[in-house]
Amino acid sequence: MYCPIIDAAGAIAGAAFQKDKKISKSLIFLIFMMTIDTKKDKRLADEWELSNSKGGMTADEITFLASTGLKTCKDFCASRKYTGENRCICIRERFPTSAHYDLYLRARSKYLELLEIGILAKAASQEATGEKNEK
Ligand SMILES: [Zn+2]
Repeated sequence: MYCPIIDAAGAIAGAAFQKDKKISKSLIFLIFMMTIDTKKDKRLADEWELSNSKGGMTADEITFLASTGLKTCKDFCASRKYTGENRCICIRERFPTSAHYDLYLRARSKYLELLEIGILAKAASQEATGEKNEK
């Protein structure tokens, strides 16, 4: 569920509630994300897409995520708005390169496909046994 922007917004709300001085740091981050540095964010997204880095994530981690699904950007994400749906900061924070993310997407859709086949198979076998019992 991690999203840096929601995290920052939460920190601001929390800090405001407690009259904490950490508010300025979080506020700077939020402003950075929402207005000032969209160019930098785009550049970072470009770099991320072109990166050939191999490290940072194992096949096991990708497999695990494929079975649970990735939960980010549920609400508004400024980074997503400016850099695009598949390369916002939430995704870049989770995957070292876009190749890792692509792999995750493919594994995820395969997983959902298999899940669907499993559900259909279960339903079919229940139907079959149900018919048997009726006779
Ligand atoms: Zn995002």
